[in-house]
Amino acid sequence: MYDIIIIGAGPTGLTAAIYAARRMMKTLVISKNIGGQMVWASEIANYPGVKTIGAIELVQNMSQQVKDFGVGIKIDEVKKIDKNTDGSFKIDGKKQSYLTKTIVLAMGLAPKQLGLARENQLVGKGISYCANCDGPLFKGKPVAVVGGGNAALDAAEVLSKIASQVYLIYHKPKFKGFESLVAWVEARKNIIIMLASDVVEIIGEQKLERLKIENKIDRTVKEIKVDGFFIEIGHMPKTEWLADLVERDGKGQINADLSAKTSQAGVFAAGDVTPGEFKQIIIGCGQGAVAALSAYKYLQEKK
Ligand SMILES: Cc1cc2nc3c(=O)[nH]c(=O)nc-3n(C[C@H](O)[C@H](O)[C@H](O)COP(=O)(O)OP(=O)(O)OC[C@H]3O[C@@H](n4cnc5c(N)ncnc54)[C@H](O)[C@@H]3O)c2cc1C
Repeated sequence: MYDIIIIGAGPTGLTAAIYAARRMMKTLVISKNIGGQMVWASEIANYPGVKTIGAIELVQNMSQQVKDFGVGIKIDEVKKIDKNTDGSFKIDGKKQSYLTKTIVLAMGLAPKQLGLARENQLVGKGISYCANCDGPLFKGKPVAVVGGGNAALDAAEVLSKIASQVYLIYHKPKFKGFESLVAWVEARKNIIIMLASDVVEIIGEQKLERLKIENKIDRTVKEIKVDGFFIEIGHMPKTEWLADLVERDGKGQINADLSAKTSQAGVFAAGDVTPGEFKQIIIGCGQGAVAALSAYKYLQEKK
């Protein structure tokens, strides 16, 4: 029986783990990966105390700090949480079950999908949600990016330095990202911009071969041959499986108050998985600290 189990090893969960360990709580972190969205970023330049740091180095520093406090990080995916009659919780992961007195939900956000046939089948076989991670796999080859916000523009910029050609496809007539990024992308010779266009079909069986693109104005359809396809259309929480445990808002974000308390006593939530307007590492870290301290207080008051 743990005092606290933190689900998610992004910056929010890792900070919660440090605070819980410093309160001498018996702590475990369970996560599908270590670092969360930070592994998709490149340089982090807005974390106080470190002028700029590679995202991977920051992840390593944070997880090492957690391990140095004697906290285990278990790689597992949580599928279900049940409340026991004594007020503790049973957490079912894919690999095993865990028992705990309190929980911090720090599951962050997952990339949004287009929802097209073959999208799931070809992830890792040409389809990716992370240009920084997978871009180097497509050196000298043609790739496509879908999306019109800063993430998509960023991805196009990164990929234009690696790939032979980058098709940047967006369903609206005008990009919604920063003007400076738009100007950069427009000036780049090997970026082909396809506005007011939808990706309507992914073609390929063992690996990605082509994309079918429809122009929404003149309804013409054309196929482009690409080796890589980067889907950069935003992120969303994946919390359907928690519907019976905690209250969520219309977007699936877990409602939590300023003390990180959810609608369920003993369950706290923090970071990108909660409804805060701004989603950033430093914000997640702050909220993760609050969640762990609130869980500690909850246990003290129960004694
Ligand atoms: C490309 C990119 C660049 C960015 N650059 C910056 C930047 O420069 N500066 C900045 O401040 N912010 C940046 N951000 C935002 C920042 O990364 C996020 O705000 C931050 O990572 C949120 O932290 P989190 O711990 O709340 O969630 P996440 O980082 O999303 O971590 C959630 C963790 O929970 C795990 N998880 C989810 N569901 C389950 C489950 N069911 N079972 C077990 N584990 C689960 C995930 O695998 C993940 O490890 C960037 C984001 C992206 C995508």
